[in-house]
Amino acid sequence: MAAEGLTGLADLLLDRATQIVWQLGVVNTGDTGHREASAFRHIVVPLTLQASTPSRGVQSHYNRRRGSHRGAREDAIVSASYDVIVVGAGNAALCAALAAREQGASVLVLERAPHAERGGNSRYTAGAFRLAFDGVDDLLEVMPELTEHELATTDFGSYTADQFFADMARITQYRADPDLVPILIDQSRAVAVWMRTHGVRFSPSYGRQAFRIGDRFRFWGGLAVEVTGGGPGLIEALMQAIEAEGIEIRYECGATDLIEEDGEVRGVVARQNGRREEIRAGVVVLASGGFEANAEWRTRYLGAGWDLAKVRGTRFNTGDGIRMALAVGAMPWGNWSGSHAVAWDRNAPDFGDLRVGDNFQKHSYPFGIMVNANGERFVDEGADFRNYTYAKYGQIVLQQPGQFAWQVFDAKVTHLLRDEYRIREVTKVRADTLEELANKLEDVNGARFLEMVEEYNAAVQDDVPFDPTVKDGRGTNGLTVPKSNWANRLDTPPYEAYEVTCGITFTFGGLRIDRNARVLDTAMQPIPGLYAAGELVGGLFYFNYPGGTGLTSGSVFGRIAGISAGQGL
Ligand SMILES: Cc1cc2nc3c(=O)[nH]c(=O)nc-3n(C[C@H](O)[C@H](O)[C@H](O)COP(=O)(O)OP(=O)(O)OC[C@H]3O[C@@H](n4cnc5c(N)ncnc54)[C@H](O)[C@@H]3O)c2cc1C
Repeated sequence: MAAEGLTGLADLLLDRATQIVWQLGVVNTGDTGHREASAFRHIVVPLTLQASTPSRGVQSHYNRRRGSHRGAREDAIVSASYDVIVVGAGNAALCAALAAREQGASVLVLERAPHAERGGNSRYTAGAFRLAFDGVDDLLEVMPELTEHELATTDFGSYTADQFFADMARITQYRADPDLVPILIDQSRAVAVWMRTHGVRFSPSYGRQAFRIGDRFRFWGGLAVEVTGGGPGLIEALMQAIEAEGIEIRYECGATDLIEEDGEVRGVVARQNGRREEIRAGVVVLASGGFEANAEWRTRYLGAGWDLAKVRGTRFNTGDGIRMALAVGAMPWGNWSGSHAVAWDRNAPDFGDLRVGDNFQKHSYPFGIMVNANGERFVDEGADFRNYTYAKYGQIVLQQPGQFAWQVFDAKVTHLLRDEYRIREVTKVRADTLEELANKLEDVNGARFLEMVEEYNAAVQDDVPFDPTVKDGRGTNGLTVPKSNWANRLDTPPYEAYEVTCGITFTFGGLRIDRNARVLDTAMQPIPGLYAAGELVGGLFYFNYPGGTGLTSGSVFGRIAGISAGQGL
């Protein structure tokens, strides 16, 4: 569909949404909730930020008598009231807090982690930030610091809204929420420009998303931008903005319950230093991550074996926000049995290590082969660009005997391995012959490995040229487990192999929100006073995920939640 077509339809729908607001006094989301997959291919829903009208529930909050939370202990301290409480202090939460503050609201941020571990999963990232751009002029809005030299020597290409939309549709098998995806895409660049106003800076992702061809860099995979300084840089910049705005953050203060009275959310019960406290607010924004760090929930919802996965990031995302919202009637939504999980060093610690960040990941498998304990390949390593396979291959590694695999490369491609292969904390073996390598691959059937490599080498389509910047079509012939692109014989020593297991990044299931980031109940009506953003929003990702979209989603819906919460007061 042409871009103009999308915009025209968006305008029509905006008119319709605005009429609904005027007629009913609330944005009625009931009719927009469930659409068939086919509709997702055609519908673009407008962003209704400007049309955000205070819900009756939030407006009437101030006219109602205060009561006490049903579940709160009687000895809970009752503290001061705020306009907005934000639960969590990762990217989504901090964007929500800043946006609410811009609306003039008084804001309190509650963070369960101590100060030293602040920033949630967002801090562990490399800062990859997926946004739509039609060309370099669009990128200059986000990165005005680009130098003449960079502009002259880089082929950024473009990543249009239509391409982003097609990726989200294809990768989620046409299940992603048709209300939320267009907003995510439409706001992806605008939110980055807005984050700049709060001190966040962006850079070209040369290290991870570009290859040098002659004297030029060529970007691939639609992902050209990262936050300067990665996750730590992002959190540092947002925290400085929070401080500059005088927004209060309480660390080691985890929300445990929502205060609900007469069907409206009016604050949270929190625990700090072993004491429970009722903190009142006009509205609450939940941005406390998914349930990836909760082994029991992982097993319950993702399935058997998921208790054995390593957690790539924070140990504090245990599903608290989701649990609290479900307890007041929120609708569970999205791919509750799905998650983002990658190939991760087998000897990495159980939870993320901020010193190492995301470097336990091992993402260069498209240029080699992956082998399990039986000495067999088990997945098409070159099915697509790494961006479009890495988030689902962790699960496939988890399903292998012993929950591990070895990634094997020869000297022809080791120069293409990403920086994460060269860290000190890596599980690696090196050998001058395949036989020596077979002996060194711990827990692997070496005899079968050698046979398998022979079969694989014989199947490589040598006549097709190898090109890592495109899907080169250099695959294998006749193998039960094919390799579709970037296939090379393993024949040039020294050989290197890296041992990986499954590292879970975040869970896909969560809460259902509307276009204004209001949490919907099981009757698809907004729960007055409750908003959500970030990982705990369900419905965006199913089965898989296009790299760099988690931060974009947190920023876009965090900002919307903050604006809606602030405007609703
Ligand atoms: C190693 C790694 C690398 C990644 N790389 C990228 C990347 O490059 N690009 C990308 O787009 N995405 C990446 N992701 C995914 C990305 O981190 C997440 O999608 C995104 O950061 C989630 O943001 P969030 O604000 O929802 O959650 P978080 O940043 O995790 O914040 C949630 C916060 O809530 C707090 N919390 C939890 N429970 C409570 C409670 N009861 N009360 C108060 N606070 C609570 C937590 O302590 C945490 O600080 C990566 C993730 C990991 C782990």
